[in-house]
Amino acid sequence: MVTSYMQLLQRDLGPNLTENQNQYLNFAIDGGRRMSELIQDLLSYSRVSAVEPQRELVDFNEVIKDVQIHLRTAIAESGASVISSDLPKMTADGSQVRQLFQNLVSNAIKYRGESPPVIKVSAKHVDGDWLFSVADNGLGIDPENRQRIFEMFSRIHDRSVPGTGIGLAICQRVVERLGGRIWVESTPGEGSTFYFTIPG
Ligand code: ADP
Repeated sequence: MVTSYMQLLQRDLGPNLTENQNQYLNFAIDGGRRMSELIQDLLSYSRVSAVEPQRELVDFNEVIKDVQIHLRTAIAESGASVISSDLPKMTADGSQVRQLFQNLVSNAIKYRGESPPVIKVSAKHVDGDWLFSVADNGLGIDPENRQRIFEMFSRIHDRSVPGTGIGLAICQRVVERLGGRIWVESTPGEGSTFYFTIPG
């Protein structure tokens, strides 16, 4: 409502607005958009915590296909390629798992380097658990920030990249509710690999 009415005001006043007034309205519209994004992300975070996870058979290959459809604009604009190996089927909450992969793949695109993103998703069985990885060739993450990025609101890159700092906190919640853990390994300037486990 706030953003829409600001935009209407901007349109109706159009040529009568001074350059400064137009800029004030743009700031207000942008602020409204960011507030809405923040509320959506906070709701997603609280839903993951509050709602009892569904137990259904999830084909992780289908999840990756869905994620690519959902992120098709970002993938096309950045020239990204998403390469995934044969992934397992297992009992989990499909919508939470989708959100987990969507946040990781979308970050791999957002925090890309000079070359088009190449994102590799794979899974292997290790000591009775599934170990998943989402690897990118993006900006990378300094060692001192590798734990911090999973905290709410923590952002370590250029603030001009849109975001709320909640995505990885959601990923951590989803993985922990499945009984696993999540971490990142990275070479700054070359890329990052996010790992998470899901028990057997
Ligand atoms: P957001 O993307 O909204 O800022 P996230 O919680 O998803 O929030 O990520 C937190 C921070 O971690 C990001 O702001 C970014 O600085 C860093 N980050 C996340 N994913 C990657 C990645 N694949 N490569 C480099 N940095 C990343």
